[in-house]
Amino acid sequence: GRNREISPSFRGSWFKLSMERQAVQRAKEAFLSGRTRPLEFRLQQLHALQRLITENEAEISTALKQDINRSQYDTPLLELIGIDTEIKLALEKLAEWAAPRPAERNLLTISDEVYILPQPLGVVLIIGAWNYPWALTLLPLVGAIAAGNAAVVKPSELSEYSSLLLRALLPRYLDKDLYPVITGGVSVTQELLRLRFDHIFYTGSSAVGKLVMEAAARHLTPVTLELGGKSPCYIDKDCDIRVACRRITWGKFVNCGQTCIAPDFILCEPCIQGRVVECLRQTLLEFYGADPKSSPDYGRIINQRHFLRVMGLMEGYTPVVGGQNDASQRYIAPTVLKDVPPHSRLMQEEIFGPLLPIVAVSDMDDAIRFINEREKPLALYIFCSDKKATKRMIEETTSGGVTVNDVMMHYTLSSLPFGGVGQSGMGHYHGKHTFDQLSHQRACLVRSLRMENVNLARYPPQDRRRARR
Ligand code: NAD
Repeated sequence: GRNREISPSFRGSWFKLSMERQAVQRAKEAFLSGRTRPLEFRLQQLHALQRLITENEAEISTALKQDINRSQYDTPLLELIGIDTEIKLALEKLAEWAAPRPAERNLLTISDEVYILPQPLGVVLIIGAWNYPWALTLLPLVGAIAAGNAAVVKPSELSEYSSLLLRALLPRYLDKDLYPVITGGVSVTQELLRLRFDHIFYTGSSAVGKLVMEAAARHLTPVTLELGGKSPCYIDKDCDIRVACRRITWGKFVNCGQTCIAPDFILCEPCIQGRVVECLRQTLLEFYGADPKSSPDYGRIINQRHFLRVMGLMEGYTPVVGGQNDASQRYIAPTVLKDVPPHSRLMQEEIFGPLLPIVAVSDMDDAIRFINEREKPLALYIFCSDKKATKRMIEETTSGGVTVNDVMMHYTLSSLPFGGVGQSGMGHYHGKHTFDQLSHQRACLVRSLRMENVNLARYPPQDRRRARR
């Protein structure tokens, strides 16, 4: 059954907990052995990870089909290509990323060697979420390996087929001691959080993010928190609404709305709301047919609890598109709701499901005010053909990232730091940003023992010092 409780017997859990401690201890010893220090070792592990992805694409797709009915076509597009791209980039750039960078000198250090040396932190704990279980664990892992760390990978218990497959595959390709996979539910994560790591990289809800940070604080462990929130999507009345709605429909309903950077809701002026609804309706018909339930491209809600949560958000509203559901399959049709009041429940919490509310605003300024009155979102989408107005909206609002005239595309660039701000998270990753996030930037100054005369001015006693000046 999909919703079985993961609460092993007391004896079972005691055994498991001690296994976790052992795994973390082994990872630490493996790190201290120094074998992650040579770049050749890191490159070899990255090559192995790349092979894991290419050789097991079919199995990974099947696991995701079982977890969230992910379309076979979407899995490479949404997860695997991105992982492969990041590995390729790390393989190509590692020598450059890991090289010491000379830093500026002043008069007192003019003949010294002054540089910044990126160094591994130690053992990183990676806690992933279930909506993209491969990308959310392996993208941080790519950076952890590249930076020379050991990493304990804790995939989400909710995407159980993917988690079990990851646990089976990783040790077949990578160093078993350095990169253990630990599966299990909340109690296992809590036990891991009691242990001491050198960095915790967490992806998931803001509520659990706070618990992670609290646990990390006890050991002064730095954290990266990749959280969620309500990402707004503003449609200006003078843009190509048909194209805007196509792009929004894809970003909102892919993975059944369970994407951290999916547009959460639409803001637009009342005069275009009718046309927006019509364009969304037409695109949905085009993408998923008259019966999305039988479309191979349309997903399912991860579990019963989330199904009930998303259904609960709709209570009291009559959708203008969709609304059909089937609890036995955890199916919720792509749904659009219009004229949604700003204070409704739908507008309080992250939807993380296939419901798209439209909230009316009087103009762009009103939209900016609306966004700034709420928590800083993970992403912001602006559809607008006026470049000046767009730039103004970018400057006068904030969010982890922003894409103009499309959705989610900023995520796909390794050159852009991906992460949240405020309640949507802290720290960022992708490409070199992951490497930097999981490295210590060590300040290094190397001088010679000669030229002691220059130093005399700083040595006591005072009167001799004064005389020398
Ligand atoms: P989840 O329930 O799978 O939880 C994530 C991890 O936290 C799991 O490994 C789980 O074991 C652990 N966990 C859960 N409860 C815990 C507790 N009480 N104590 C300790 N650990 C606990 O995933 P979720 O939180 O439902 O994920 C969805 C959220 O993640 C959404 O808010 C989404 O926006 C966000 N998200 C963010 C990103 C990003 O990159 N910023 C990506 C994906 C998802």
